Amino acid sequence: MIMMKKRVVALGLAFSLAIPASTGFAASSTSSVQDLLGMQEESLPNVKILATGGTIAGSAASNTATTGYTAGAIGVETLIDAVPELTDIATISGEQIANVGSPNIDTDVLLTLAKRVNVLLAQDDTDGIVITHGTDTLEETAFFLHMTVKSDKPVVVVGAMRPATAISADGPMNLYNAVKVAGAEKSVGKGVLVVLNDRIGSARMISKTNTTMLDTFQSEEYGFLGAIAGGEIHYYQEMLRKHTTETPFDVSELTELPQVDILYGYQNMPSYLFEAAAANGADGIVTAGSGNGSLSSIGSEVVKKVIEKGIPVVRASRVGNGIVTETSNGIAADSLNPQKARILLMLALTETDDPEVIEQYFNEF
Ligand code: ASP
Repeated sequence: MIMMKKRVVALGLAFSLAIPASTGFAASSTSSVQDLLGMQEESLPNVKILATGGTIAGSAASNTATTGYTAGAIGVETLIDAVPELTDIATISGEQIANVGSPNIDTDVLLTLAKRVNVLLAQDDTDGIVITHGTDTLEETAFFLHMTVKSDKPVVVVGAMRPATAISADGPMNLYNAVKVAGAEKSVGKGVLVVLNDRIGSARMISKTNTTMLDTFQSEEYGFLGAIAGGEIHYYQEMLRKHTTETPFDVSELTELPQVDILYGYQNMPSYLFEAAAANGADGIVTAGSGNGSLSSIGSEVVKKVIEKGIPVVRASRVGNGIVTETSNGIAADSLNPQKARILLMLALTETDDPEVIEQYFNEF
């Protein structure tokens, strides 16, 4: 249950203005005056903003520049101060976890973030968390948290496509919407959410689909969970795959993650890519195959050898949508794209090296 700080606000402004300020009534009977004025208690949720950098915190040399800027130039307090309306919808505090472009989000940041989110959400004074993040690898961090957060409280990952310095920057409204979603009772138990461009997606299903355009985040095959319209949150779908409290993954004691490499499938894909991954210590491999996860005959043969060496291989697809179905050669990624399949394989390997258990994770999460 979300615990919220109470504050008293005036509803019915016109009526309250009509009441003389000093009636001699207030000191003795505050609640009656509140009733008279149409005042009532409204709850403001406590939302923590954890900032990691990205374009939402980006600064460009001119206000028309939307590429070639510095991602992660602005600190969390400046981000919060830029949207004073946040204090109307939540009690806000910010923490800077990192300040980098999201291609530089690494294992250290992922683990720091997940541990911090779990600590904060275990506290009564946190109702929800917003994470500001670069959009390039946002879906990887969001899915990592979707698998490792141990709470039903809302966690929302948000970014922007235009730097904070741009005309019509999308960051402030995205941040406002993210805080609104993170503070909402109706967002509880939905897993990690991604909010951009007035839409609410599940971390499992949403992906960046366009290099530069504002509407880049799509949940093409299975749809968004909801949207923000007219200042209201509207949900339409539930995430049925297991997440957060339903997974076995516990990052609280972890200081590193297994090494999982992604190998892209194409015509004439050479076998030395697999050899290079194995020689460089890969604990697992994800293939981004063509179509339904297919590889060339040479690629399929080498996958068998890699599996025989005890390195699990997960077959995903480079197509970007759809389900990779099971075969006897490797574990099917189901509908996870290669970058999310990598996250799940890394986490799976923190628990087990049994391919059957790993396969079960891919079927359930
Ligand atoms: N390169 C940026 C990043 O991912 C792009 C963005 O945030 O939109 O940090």
